[in-house]
Amino acid sequence: MSQQFKIELDSVRDEARIAYFSMEIALHPAMPTYSGGLGILAGDMIRAAADRELPMVAVTLLHRKGYFYQRLDSGGMQTEDSVEWVVEDFLQEFPQRAAVSIENRTVHLRAWRYEVRGCTGGIVPVYLLDSDLAENAEWDRSLTHWLYGGDQHYRLCQEVVLGMGGVSMLRALGHHGIERFHMNEGHASLLPIALLDEQAERAGHDRVTQEDVEVVRRHCVFTTHTPVPAGHDRFPSELINQVLGRVETEAMKEVLLWDDYLNMTYLALNLSHYVNGVAKKHAEVLRQMFAQYRIDSITNGVHATTWTSPPFQALFDQHVPGWREDNFTLRYVLGIPPQEVWQAHDQAKRQLIDHVNRVTNVGMDAQDLTIGFARRDATYKRGDLIFRDIERLKAISAGVGRFQIIYAGKAHPQDQQGKELIQRIYQARDALRGYVKIAYLPNYDWPLAQLMTAGVDIWLNTPQPPLEASGTSGMKAALNGVPSLSILDGWWIEGCIEGVTGWAIGELPTSVSFEEERSARDAAALYDKLEQVVVPLFYHDRERFIDVMRHTIALNGSFFNTQRMVLQYVTKAYIH
Ligand SMILES: *Cc1c(COP(=O)(O)O)cnc(C)c1O
Repeated sequence: MSQQFKIELDSVRDEARIAYFSMEIALHPAMPTYSGGLGILAGDMIRAAADRELPMVAVTLLHRKGYFYQRLDSGGMQTEDSVEWVVEDFLQEFPQRAAVSIENRTVHLRAWRYEVRGCTGGIVPVYLLDSDLAENAEWDRSLTHWLYGGDQHYRLCQEVVLGMGGVSMLRALGHHGIERFHMNEGHASLLPIALLDEQAERAGHDRVTQEDVEVVRRHCVFTTHTPVPAGHDRFPSELINQVLGRVETEAMKEVLLWDDYLNMTYLALNLSHYVNGVAKKHAEVLRQMFAQYRIDSITNGVHATTWTSPPFQALFDQHVPGWREDNFTLRYVLGIPPQEVWQAHDQAKRQLIDHVNRVTNVGMDAQDLTIGFARRDATYKRGDLIFRDIERLKAISAGVGRFQIIYAGKAHPQDQQGKELIQRIYQARDALRGYVKIAYLPNYDWPLAQLMTAGVDIWLNTPQPPLEASGTSGMKAALNGVPSLSILDGWWIEGCIEGVTGWAIGELPTSVSFEEERSARDAAALYDKLEQVVVPLFYHDRERFIDVMRHTIALNGSFFNTQRMVLQYVTKAYIH
């Protein structure tokens, strides 16, 4: 089986062998079809698959109204608008139709196609499913409108559209040779149910059997991104029965072992032959949580060409030709003269500082040490950790060297605590006025992430371990020579070589400690590292600082990219 698959990988370019399913995919900076890290990762994965000319197709939902557009008032209070975008400007409609059954209604689906083109011309087509058709009931027409909008019922229906509708659409489009179905996170877990139906029918069974499960499992791959049990989607059995609306669910219950709740992670775990977490540490945490499964790890990456700023692209083109096709060659960045690295960085930094000053009127100085922090405002990410001791911060900035901080990030519309976190950052900004300049840029998205990860001097990350499954924005920064100053969690456990690729905040945690105690300790470690190492190095030993920048690119940019990641998926998950 794997031998045959390998030959096909080499020889067949037009017939897809791998189908990648994700609830969100960031395909174009102006298409609001993603909410954050998961969607960016999916897009970066597909961009790398296109670079490698893999025979892949991808399936997602259209999200006609996007995730949301973030507005922040003068106190940092977030409100959300839906995003208007012109679908036809980006996508091509297909005449084929597919359908799924939801609550015994037929929901018709159409697909829009987006082509992701790789650096050597390879193409991965992406199909965006759309239920907004005149022949559907009014409510069903809204099912592909909002990413992560609505209640549990709406979400489950969306997951039916993605998983089961996706398979139905692939068949309608003529994709019959797919050998691997990859579920990116549990939102796609209903996909194997559609495959089970197909398999049972093919085998002439009138209900799904254990044998069918074995067959389907060989074709499925599952990547989970969540390190906490609460992060895993689950739906009550009655809701599942209501939505799937079919008698065989009882029979499937036996086969799939669910009781009062259907946990989407368990469903995918049960029905996949290969399962992975997104960093080594994450896989360890998963193995404790799901002890009865074999769980591997493939550490996340980012798409190097997408996340390298224009000044660094020009620098790499000049010194490391071929880096776009082969990101491993970024190791040769170690040979680029330091002043050229600094010049490229200075250009990227000025772009960001100009943007910040235009948007916020904070009056940042491009000479000052600039720290960046941008991610979803969830409390475990502790965006306000650095503000635990305002007086200490003032003292470091006044006594050791001036620094300024640029923030961005959205809170999920239903996450009240996340919204309060933004307001606390605004309060800290006011409390630090005259000492540390702080800017909060609204509506964190792909273009803003490009500007920020390239334009700051230090990328800060302070999650509460072990809750950061991987984290990817520090990898984007690394490609631009921006070292991370971060808690040892997720990818940074693998990426941090102290003083060489960046700096750790505190020690590697050996046990889970009480949250409040841990935060006090982590904040103190952060202040110490800033005061004693990072700020002095930036102002008093620029040469060594630039050497850290070069190592950040050479050691981390060359490795934490999706070209390496996708190769690992091929060898570990797709050809076996
Ligand atoms: C990269 C990215 C993220 C994810 O960053 P993490 O460090 O993984 O939290 C979220 N949102 C946007 C817009 C991004 O570009």
